[in-house]
Amino acid sequence: MLQIAFDNTYARELPGLYTACKPALAPAPRLLYLNTALADELGLDSTALAGADGTALFAGNTLPAGAEPLAQVYAGHQFGGFSPQLGDGRALLLGEVIDRRGQRRDIAFKGSGRTPYSRGGDGKAAVGPMLREVLIGEAMQALGIPTTRALAVVATGETVRREGNFPGAVLTRVAASHLRVGTFQFFAARGDIDKLRQVADYAIQRHDPALAGTPERYLALLRAAAGRQAQLIAQWVNVGFIHGVMNTDNMTISGETIDYGPCAFMEAYDPSTVFSSIDHGGRYSYGNQPKIARWNLARLAEALLPLMVDNDDEAAVQLAVAQVTEVIDTFPAWYASALLQGQRAKLGLQHEADNNEDSSLADAWLALLQQHAVDFTLAWRRLADAAAGDANPLRALFAEPTAVNPWLAQWRASCAKEDSGSPGAGQARAQRMRRANPWVIPRNHQVEVALAAASEHNDLSPFHALLAALQAPYDETPASAVYAVPAPAQVTAGYQTFCGT
Ligand code: AMP
Ligand code: MG
Repeated sequence: MLQIAFDNTYARELPGLYTACKPALAPAPRLLYLNTALADELGLDSTALAGADGTALFAGNTLPAGAEPLAQVYAGHQFGGFSPQLGDGRALLLGEVIDRRGQRRDIAFKGSGRTPYSRGGDGKAAVGPMLREVLIGEAMQALGIPTTRALAVVATGETVRREGNFPGAVLTRVAASHLRVGTFQFFAARGDIDKLRQVADYAIQRHDPALAGTPERYLALLRAAAGRQAQLIAQWVNVGFIHGVMNTDNMTISGETIDYGPCAFMEAYDPSTVFSSIDHGGRYSYGNQPKIARWNLARLAEALLPLMVDNDDEAAVQLAVAQVTEVIDTFPAWYASALLQGQRAKLGLQHEADNNEDSSLADAWLALLQQHAVDFTLAWRRLADAAAGDANPLRALFAEPTAVNPWLAQWRASCAKEDSGSPGAGQARAQRMRRANPWVIPRNHQVEVALAAASEHNDLSPFHALLAALQAPYDETPASAVYAVPAPAQVTAGYQTFCGT
């Protein structure tokens, strides 16, 4: 029997803030994917998990001792409109463990059946989208971007109905926590200040323990969560990631990326890029993500305000509003600074000499990529070759190869300022840049090929080959070359992603 050392603080400390709920039984479970590295990180027995006991566990059929499955409740602004009650409609928190580094991690199911928060949904998930979550999440992890992670995917043996019939699956997801902006909005909207305080103090204990018990801790929690989001969104933008559904229920307090539904990576650089089938207005387009993050954080600020002041004290209310407004108004500067830090690394610059100059250099580069519809990932990667002395692979990405020359001259001037003629500086720069600019990202057409083979033909080999390339995104090898090739422009133009699939 599998042993997991659960220590379930959410279940224990927050009674009344969730609904206990059992997973549905899977008729014919089959383990499709096990993340052994993550299992090891969690101190779990990956050999046992790879066997029949693991399959029964990840299917939700046999609950390990100490698991206390529960559905969390939350609210959320979806595309700007407030839904006062969402919650885990097809997810369950199984419990928490302390990982090998001493970090508390949630272990949760997605696709494990109906809960009191399922509304009209079936509570289920399909193989394709769950394996998609594995691919994109592991890519993000390998790119050094904070993310929830997939521990396992089990095919349930059931059919789920969407726009067709698909094989069903349960994903086991690991997260620093599942607390979201929407968690706070739920209790704030109901005026349940006691529960709001409980969950806020719980969040502080979990993510910002140094703030526990301090007098201004709720303001500080907002500041900390905003700081994490500034870093996170800057990282997204620097790899061309588009989350696709940045509703407030899909934004964590921990700063991890969550909910790999309609997300996708941009190919040719264009800030207006949108792939989600339902994002008609481009609210969650690539370039809008920092603005939306700020908007979501303003919703978190509103939700936390009742904890900061007593409503009857007008002067205190004004002060608190001014304090949270200051955080929200500072967010763009935090974001800009995080973005520039990442851009400097991508440009191969090390010295924080002149923010305006470096930022203009990055902006001019991006404007050039946009003007010539150049692949974002390859352009950065080929810039590293230019640092090593060969600009031709970069020029070859442009329909007019000379178009990049004036910008290259500016960039070389910035590099030269740092190098002061030292021999080997170019090679060293190229090496650094090849650790900051991935060669492989989860390109949409390759993801689709891998998922179709798995879902339609039960062939997981394309999935595993792609996953291996994504787990070593900076290594330019012959085996990974196929994954670095952009999709034909007409394929990308017609590409659509879907929510809640
Ligand atoms: P999402 O946009 O995927 O984060 O989902 C928004 C809300 O819809 C959450 O409350 C989900 O739990 C719920 N949901 C999504 N898909 C389903 C489903 N198939 N069955 C029940 N609830 C669902
Ligand atoms: Mg969600």
